[in-house]
Amino acid sequence: MKIVIVIEDGASDYPIEEIDGKTPLKVANKPVLDRIAREGKTGLIQNVPESLPPGSDVANMSIFGYDPLDYYTGRGPLEAASMGVETKEGDVVFRCNTITERDGLMASSNAGHISSEEAAELMEALNDYFNDKYPDFKGKFYPGVSYRHLFVYNDSENAEKLAELDMVPPHDFVGETIADKLEFDSFADEVKSIMLESQEALANHPVNQKRIEEGKEPCNMVWFWGQGTMPDMPKMEDVYGLKGAVITGVDLIKGLGVCSGCTNLDVPGATAFFDTNYKGKGEYAVNALKDNDIVFVHIESPDEAGHAKNLEEKVKGIENIDKFILAPLMDALEEYGDFKIAVLPDHPTPIDIGTHTRDMVPIAIYSSKDEADDVLVYDEDSVKDGALGELIGCDLLKLLLE
Ligand SMILES: [Zn+2]
Repeated sequence: MKIVIVIEDGASDYPIEEIDGKTPLKVANKPVLDRIAREGKTGLIQNVPESLPPGSDVANMSIFGYDPLDYYTGRGPLEAASMGVETKEGDVVFRCNTITERDGLMASSNAGHISSEEAAELMEALNDYFNDKYPDFKGKFYPGVSYRHLFVYNDSENAEKLAELDMVPPHDFVGETIADKLEFDSFADEVKSIMLESQEALANHPVNQKRIEEGKEPCNMVWFWGQGTMPDMPKMEDVYGLKGAVITGVDLIKGLGVCSGCTNLDVPGATAFFDTNYKGKGEYAVNALKDNDIVFVHIESPDEAGHAKNLEEKVKGIENIDKFILAPLMDALEEYGDFKIAVLPDHPTPIDIGTHTRDMVPIAIYSSKDEADDVLVYDEDSVKDGALGELIGCDLLKLLLE
């Protein structure tokens, strides 16, 4: 049997006045998804446990068949996995933002969207600075994309405590005082002083002098957050007996692919934005069916449209997924005969709110061997009458294997 899970990130929504109280899923032209609902079974699914934030990392971990309450340790470790960063016992992986500090305030949480090339130079300068000054320095900076980097710190004694430290995401306090967000217990003294001392290491760096001359924000400090120890996830093949492939433009989801032992397939032009290569993703997904039992296709664009409060792009994203991904996938799956396909968002990203919520999301599952329920279209309300009822995210794979 072939299994496909298509994740329309952030696609579900709340009623929007502009479209007479309807939602993007209700107004989008999506004949294939409606067919999956009409000829399959539908319901609601909760991908975010109550005690965790409704992030894409948590929600998608559920969809991959792992209970986030058992396995979620933070976004830093998942990004490290996707970047191929090697870690060892006692390592804590922090997300490391290049930021702009001004007058003690968080002036920019991304240092004016600094380029990857500039940031890579600064990460190297930080490694040099700390290793020269402290011969036993226990940390290492890893350059990533734009303002998104990693810092791995080894402290076997305090790793678990550091992983639990309440570090505020920098985008959550732009314009506010930095010192207020650095009031930690003494076990975190060294991590705190590395952040503060990064200012000295970066202040006069040529990259920053040039940025200031050009009227851009300098990266004059780094900010750590999203940290955790590496998750100890068993391979999907061992737990579910499934050989898997993952198609996504998002590092976090690639990290889930690595941690679950699936193969990440890089699609040219998969930008994780409105302009992503929908057609390429559809083609790669169809191809991936040949060598895999399960294929995850994750599309970020509806979520980005939700964050941007852009109704038109959200509808367009849902329609493009239908036309360029779901349609070719259904055709290909029918050739295989025995198959199941599930379509769902990870969490809602309502246009009116512009950020994630933790509501249940609609799910439709079409099985080549199973009967349909009475639901005729796919949207937030129609599926409430579906035969699947209310599901828990991390049970989805078990259900698909029944
Ligand atoms: Zn998401």
